[in-house]
Amino acid sequence: MTSEGREVAVLATRNAHKLVELRRILAEAELDIELIDIDEAEQRLGVVVPEVPETGATFEENARLKSEAVALATSLPALADDSGLCVDALNGMPGVLSARWSGPAADDASNLRLVIDQLTDVPAERRGAQFKCAAAFTCPEQGTTVVVGSLEGSLLGEPRGANGFGYDPIFVPDGHDRTTAEMTGAEKDAISHRGRAFRRLALCLADRRDP
Ligand code: IMP
Repeated sequence: MTSEGREVAVLATRNAHKLVELRRILAEAELDIELIDIDEAEQRLGVVVPEVPETGATFEENARLKSEAVALATSLPALADDSGLCVDALNGMPGVLSARWSGPAADDASNLRLVIDQLTDVPAERRGAQFKCAAAFTCPEQGTTVVVGSLEGSLLGEPRGANGFGYDPIFVPDGHDRTTAEMTGAEKDAISHRGRAFRRLALCLADRRDP
């Protein structure tokens, strides 16, 4: 499917924030792909894209599950990501459970509070953590490519900053003195796990088009 000569790909999300972020990253990579979200794909194609349970044990598996399910349902190329926070003192958790760490009714605030509480007695030198992101691209005829990006940092005992989402208010990237919630969107994109993963994926897509 093309739109005014541009290839169309579906981002496996209904989250408008992710769509904006990903459009910016693909545009920076000078990829002439029109990215639409699941809602837009459903409207344009008259199909229903089923919700994809994130049952994978790794970020890579979940990203692949989502991009393959959306490519199958739409017959269009699809992109997906899966991301989360891995805390050294919690043996890498919450990891793939980041979005639902505090239970079935979890939201960003309750998840953040739980991690803060779990680390109460952990000293500064053992507060290392990473944000990780896997980004997947499925082309119906060519299979799936998965790449990863990560951001190393450490966790504060109290939230700081009002930007971003999720665990941003306690995450201070290595080499910085502000949390990712105290950075602008562009500052965070430049170093973030998602920015890194999707810039890598954009390079793979560019190679696919200009061998
Ligand atoms: P998902 O990739 O949309 O499934 O997000 C997983 C969860 O990981 C989110 O709900 C957040 O709790 C956390 N997370 C992923 N990326 C970030 C980030 O950039 N900042 C803060 N939290 C994040």
